[in-house]
Amino acid sequence: MIRDFNYLRASTVKEALDLLEQHKDDYKIICGGQSLLILMRQGLVAPEYLIDIKNIKGLNTINFDRKNGLRIGATTTHRAVEKSPLIKKHYSVLLDMEENLASIQTRNWGTVGGNLAHGDPAGDPGPVFIALNAAVKMANKERERTLPLEEFFIDYFETALEEGELLLEVQMPIPPPKTATVYEKFNIIKNELGIVSVAASITLDENGLSCKDARVVLGAAAPTPKRAKKAEQMLVGQTLDEKLLDKVSEKASQEADPIADIHATEAYRRSMVKALAGKMVKKAWEQAKTSA
Ligand SMILES: Cc1cc2nc3c(=O)[nH]c(=O)nc-3n(C[C@H](O)[C@H](O)[C@H](O)COP(=O)(O)OP(=O)(O)OC[C@H]3O[C@@H](n4cnc5c(N)ncnc54)[C@H](O)[C@@H]3O)c2cc1C
Repeated sequence: MIRDFNYLRASTVKEALDLLEQHKDDYKIICGGQSLLILMRQGLVAPEYLIDIKNIKGLNTINFDRKNGLRIGATTTHRAVEKSPLIKKHYSVLLDMEENLASIQTRNWGTVGGNLAHGDPAGDPGPVFIALNAAVKMANKERERTLPLEEFFIDYFETALEEGELLLEVQMPIPPPKTATVYEKFNIIKNELGIVSVAASITLDENGLSCKDARVVLGAAAPTPKRAKKAEQMLVGQTLDEKLLDKVSEKASQEADPIADIHATEAYRRSMVKALAGKMVKKAWEQAKTSA
């Protein structure tokens, strides 16, 4: 049963930050409620004040331009990302990711900011955004700050958000030429959280032959979304063949730090990371060859 709480609704960022300051120590931010309400129902979280940010003006936005890239406001729903023509045109991997995230009902309410702030290592947006080199903008009453997303996740369900701080926006630069980013999660039940997932981003040289830059990001395979940096380094400067792909996949699997739970053993997760990492690197590489 959910314990009684005081419900407060902010309509501007300033109003929200004032409320966070006023009720520090005993508040929880609520946006779509898709993760928070589960915790409240289980009695794991019982805030005195619930501060609703869903209707804040200006946070429910998707903007793109050729200088700054993509900006997704924190209260933007998964469904809005999935349906955005801008995202379909410039960051289609996000559409692929969203189509397999939860049910339409959950995507209609759940938000990008809520997903990241929840800090679930099995969340889908984290690995994909990190592969796209995303940063997050946050604010409290005193200041705004921006952090690379890979530094935002600290531990299981723990992020860099401090008390009194609101996540405002996710920012993604324009990918360099000859770059492709892909993502896949492995799960038993379609659209559930992944047992493991892998995002890969590959940038090739201007001839489309050797790798200039690589990101291989593991989901549900460590306490946070995790870059397999040694595997990435093995790719840079190389041309791809089956032998290299096998070594890179093996390295990514070694870099994973998975748990065992009711869904999978640690060994199973590692072997699935290996399979998915190889598949994603190969797919991103092939797509990068033909990208502008
Ligand atoms: C049935 C079901 C299936 C799901 N399947 C998937 C899945 O396959 N993949 C996946 O990735 N996710 C999945 N989810 C999780 C879902 O995507 C997230 O719960 C949702 O995106 C969270 O957004 P929200 O707005 O509902 O957050 P809320 O539940 O409102 O909040 C979540 C947390 O974030 C904090 N918070 C929210 N917004 C902000 C902000 N702007 N600044 C600071 N803190 C903030 C809250 O205080 C809370 O701690 C599933 C959820 C359900 C219920």
